[in-house]
Amino acid sequence: MMHRDVDVAILGAGTAGLHALSEVRRETDDFVVVDGGTLGTMCARVGCMPSKVLLQVADDFHRRRVIEEEGIAGGEALTLDVGKAMEHVRALRDRFVSGVMENSINPLAGKLIRDHAEFLEPDLLGAGDQRIRASKVVIATGSTPTIPRPWQRFQDRILTTDTIFEQTELPEKMAVLGLGAVGLELGQALRRMGVDVIGFDALLRIGGIEDPEVNRLAVELVGRDLSMHLGATAEIEEDGRLLRVTANGESALVDKLLVSVGRTPNLERLALDRLGIDLDDRGMPPFDRETMQVADLPIFIAGDVDGDRAVLHEASHEGRVAGYNAVHEPPVRFRRRTRLGIAFCDPNICTVGETWDGLGDGNVAMGEAGFDSGRAIVMLREEGLIRVYADKCSGTLLGAALVAPRGEHLAHLLAWSIQRRMTVWDLLEMPFYHPVIEEILQGALTDLAGKLEVETDFPLGFASV
Ligand SMILES: Cc1cc2nc3c(=O)[nH]c(=O)nc-3n(C[C@H](O)[C@H](O)[C@H](O)COP(=O)(O)OP(=O)(O)OC[C@H]3O[C@@H](n4cnc5c(N)ncnc54)[C@H](O)[C@@H]3O)c2cc1C
Repeated sequence: MMHRDVDVAILGAGTAGLHALSEVRRETDDFVVVDGGTLGTMCARVGCMPSKVLLQVADDFHRRRVIEEEGIAGGEALTLDVGKAMEHVRALRDRFVSGVMENSINPLAGKLIRDHAEFLEPDLLGAGDQRIRASKVVIATGSTPTIPRPWQRFQDRILTTDTIFEQTELPEKMAVLGLGAVGLELGQALRRMGVDVIGFDALLRIGGIEDPEVNRLAVELVGRDLSMHLGATAEIEEDGRLLRVTANGESALVDKLLVSVGRTPNLERLALDRLGIDLDDRGMPPFDRETMQVADLPIFIAGDVDGDRAVLHEASHEGRVAGYNAVHEPPVRFRRRTRLGIAFCDPNICTVGETWDGLGDGNVAMGEAGFDSGRAIVMLREEGLIRVYADKCSGTLLGAALVAPRGEHLAHLLAWSIQRRMTVWDLLEMPFYHPVIEEILQGALTDLAGKLEVETDFPLGFASV
């Protein structure tokens, strides 16, 4: 048995853990990182990056369907070599992973312990045959794809994001179970790559969209590629060598299931019950979202494992807060960033700031614009909707929902403006080039300005010097 005493132990060498490390390192060299899983970060190995490569391939191939209208012939003759496409996904994936390994993991050398960690006492950890006494601990153990118990008996025909990018060929018929961002992105991409995909979700919403009008249009637009059954839990049963998936009285026979119903925080192995604090019914400890401190213990938590905002930039933010507070007393409360969610399906589905449900019946005005204008027409992408919400009296932007070509960029502009507490008039004072997609945002803001309870003396978008 090997014993070590350290200032800080970081559990998990993913995005959150490595960002925590970047802050810890500034104050001490006396740390260890413990990780028993596959290294390279979930984002680079099986998350953000390989999924975006797959989407890029699918989008490029899909474009052949519209270019004929522009006079470019031969599009329909293009073919996709699925084996090569998947090799390409893995080649770029490997490049992203090796970047993480070279820059962040390999330099850890003797400070990296390759085992899963568990708490033996609040300041004593076990990892294989090692015992680590740590003054501070950062929990950054990530999450694992959830497979509901009744479906686990079909394990041999279930794909998840942990396995999909390893496929050398794709099934003929597949059901995607769960149409959040991941299910929509992968389901649509696989459909565009020739798989006969059918999507299911127990909710009537897709991609986490709460705004009913944006959701309605998103279902219509994404539904042109990806047939979807919404609003009923899917039942699965064997049917010969295939699986029958049924919901709402509709059923489909498929070879494989892609289960994308969410991810479960990796808490189970940590034995948090030994911390002497109350855990909720998911086994989650109480923690402060601004300090990332767990209860009043010298323990901090960050990333997917805390079950809140499971996206990459939040994992990095929380990791840095947790790392900073692990080496500074007392813990500092850091301001959270404006909420930003993007499903990279086509068109993008984005939510920014306050969501539709969170607006309540308060003093809120909403402005909107469609995409049948200017640059969107040029791109042959004139279908979309942006809805922007603001406080009716002050004009301060609160949130937005959109389904839009290049929506990812509009969503960023809105998130930055909301975080800076800008008003509709502040934004309308900004330059809008012509012809750009951003002009559609200008249209939605102009509509919104007309619905506010305040009149301005000057023409809209003008301020005196
Ligand atoms: C298909 C897919 C696409 C995605 N696309 C996007 C996107 O486009 N944009 C975006 O913002 N987000 C995206 N995400 C989400 C994003 O990837 C995650 O939010 C982020 O990677 C989480 O980082 P993390 O550090 O919390 O977890 P991880 O990177 O998973 O790190 C956790 C680490 O902890 C280790 N570990 C687990 N248990 C223990 C233990 N007991 N002891 C020690 N170590 C342990 C694991 O081995 C792992 O290395 C996507 C996710 C998926 C699945």
